[in-house]
Amino acid sequence: MNEMSTQLFEQAKKIIPGGVNSPVRAFKAVGGLPVFMREAHGARITDVDGREYVDYVMSWGPLILGHAHPAVVEAIKDQAGKGTSYGAPTPLEVGLAELIIEAFPAMEMVRMMSSGTEAVMTAIRLARAFTGREKIVKFEGCYHGHADSLLVKAGSGVATLGIPGSPGVPKHLAELTLTVPFNDQASIANVFEVHGQEIAGVIVEPVAGNMGVVTPNPGFLKKLRELTKAHDSLLVFDEVITGFRLTWGGYQGIAGIDPDLTCLGKIIGGGLPVGAVGGKRIIMEQLAPLGPVYQAGTLSGNPLAMTAGLTTLALLQHSTDCYEAMDRLAFSLCEEMKPLFSRKGIPVTINRMGSMFTVFFTSEPVSDFASASRADKEMFARFFRGMLKNGISLPPSQFEAWFLSLAHNHEDMDETLAACASTLKNL
Ligand SMILES: *Cc1c(COP(=O)(O)O)cnc(C)c1O
Repeated sequence: MNEMSTQLFEQAKKIIPGGVNSPVRAFKAVGGLPVFMREAHGARITDVDGREYVDYVMSWGPLILGHAHPAVVEAIKDQAGKGTSYGAPTPLEVGLAELIIEAFPAMEMVRMMSSGTEAVMTAIRLARAFTGREKIVKFEGCYHGHADSLLVKAGSGVATLGIPGSPGVPKHLAELTLTVPFNDQASIANVFEVHGQEIAGVIVEPVAGNMGVVTPNPGFLKKLRELTKAHDSLLVFDEVITGFRLTWGGYQGIAGIDPDLTCLGKIIGGGLPVGAVGGKRIIMEQLAPLGPVYQAGTLSGNPLAMTAGLTTLALLQHSTDCYEAMDRLAFSLCEEMKPLFSRKGIPVTINRMGSMFTVFFTSEPVSDFASASRADKEMFARFFRGMLKNGISLPPSQFEAWFLSLAHNHEDMDETLAACASTLKNL
């Protein structure tokens, strides 16, 4: 039944480490073989064996308009015919930068790059250069890409595979990264009391998405703003997932917090490789060629990603209720899933913010990485495999967010609920 996928995986494993180009795709945490995909439209994705799924991975967040949105496809086609990269500035970069700055009042300048990892790496370098300090604070279970300084107690694939950090990260570099439990105001205050004068910056996913969805407790982000301000450290919001996912702009707008730097990625590239770091002028002016902090990229701001991003953002900006619509759909899906689990006596905690959510197989609230880790990962794995068999593609890990897009509709929800009921019957 999965002949093509099985064969491709065998072929891939011989020449690509683990057969995949990003670890979580290998299905190690859920068992079974990864499904190779052929094409996707809207909320549906089709594998190489011709089986169709309702997709909740959505390329891990970028595809807020759904797969192959006609306007995005048209924009990419049109631009491709005019050249895919010039290694010179283009009007598209200026257009996207203007749109982003308009949506993020805390940003006065922004620099484009090709991945979220690069954006975060640059934000850390800027924070260190600007403050003349070396220590960085991050939160357990938050993932900020795979740059050396941030692969410490990182969520996402690192958590999925149960790796505490990563070999190859120099010890002396890892020692400069201090980690604190998410939502733990006492711990972060304590870290500042001890190390305050050495801390260049605090980086946080304002709504965590990489240990599964974990929302900030009231006052948590405000506390970070107060502490960083009081100690002349920078506050860096990693909004690579949350940027344009929950509202026009970032979660910082909803929380009413002005971070010094913001990292973006995913949605702003409309499904093409992208990253961006933006923030206060005085900090951003440290970047070369204005300042001494070096950062560059052959394909940075390339016209294909810029036009896909511009098209995506323009559609979001001009829609009157796209975020409310996704919120309503996600709300009803989550509410209707709950009784299916409870009827089977399977405790779950569903964490949700707008169109991103995670079903944790645990009865307790999930507010940090420790509580997320206590979820029943074996139960999740069985649920995942059942759902896949029933035509629903979920992220293959307990520690990931499920994403809705504007292309998901009530029919997709009904199919998902039916698949859920049928999966639970055989769990
Ligand atoms: C995906 C992600 C990154 C890394 O972005 P890439 O484009 O995969 O390098 C960084 N931070 C967060 C919060 C992310 O979800």
